[in-house]
Amino acid sequence: MMLIDCPYCGPRNENEFHYGGQAHVAYPEDPQQLSDREWAEYLFYRDNTRGDFAERWAHTAGCRKWFNAVRDTETYAFRAVYRMGEPRPDLGGRAASAAAPAAAEPAAETESDTTPTGALA
Ligand SMILES: [Zn+2]
Repeated sequence: MMLIDCPYCGPRNENEFHYGGQAHVAYPEDPQQLSDREWAEYLFYRDNTRGDFAERWAHTAGCRKWFNAVRDTETYAFRAVYRMGEPRPDLGGRAASAAAPAAAEPAAETESDTTPTGALA
């Protein structure tokens, strides 16, 4: 078992939590103006990051509050937890998000990871 550090309750057993997907996915300002493809991208397309990844988690069997976490997708280790509304903490070099691709990754490869290819054509 792994302990997850709820920012409200402290460390608790992992089976008290539920995963809520990628964090910091902003709701579109005017959804009516989006094409079907853009709406589908908002709803279904998420980054598939190797390394640090910002995620939403809910402490469903505890305080029932949502919070964000940065987790290493290679080791499953939680590197940081923070409350909703707080900025993502800067953890240094390991970040490999779409917003700030790692220098070692070619930009075209990062782009192809998030761009759908004909799924809705
Ligand atoms: Zn909690």
